[in-house]
Amino acid sequence: MSDLDAELQDPSTFGDSDAPPADEKPYKIIFDASACFGAGKCAEVAKNWEMDIKSGMAKPRSYYIGEDDLDENVRAAEVCPANKGAGCIYVIDRRTDEEVAPDPHGDGTFSLER
Ligand code: SF4
Repeated sequence: MSDLDAELQDPSTFGDSDAPPADEKPYKIIFDASACFGAGKCAEVAKNWEMDIKSGMAKPRSYYIGEDDLDENVRAAEVCPANKGAGCIYVIDRRTDEEVAPDPHGDGTFSLER
């Protein structure tokens, strides 16, 4: 396993170097951009997601979100058809490191597979 793979398998270590405090933004987005094919479903259901005109791919406006923005980002994770329907948007609870969505295993384990 490479260092990158190891990092991707552990959501608690992913992208926290300039993160806001977890009590302000308790959730973070992990976006597997390499799997996005520009279907645009995320941007239809969540204002946190927009389509990049140049690349044609999605991008989140913010990687760290509060309770008010949780539901729409969960919806984006659930409707994303990438990775044969498994999606490429992951919503992680920073306080527990559990995957809130899409959570295909139903137990909060990080479901991004490499
Ligand atoms: S729904 Fe998924 S595949 Fe479609 S643009 Fe959004 S992130 Fe990319």
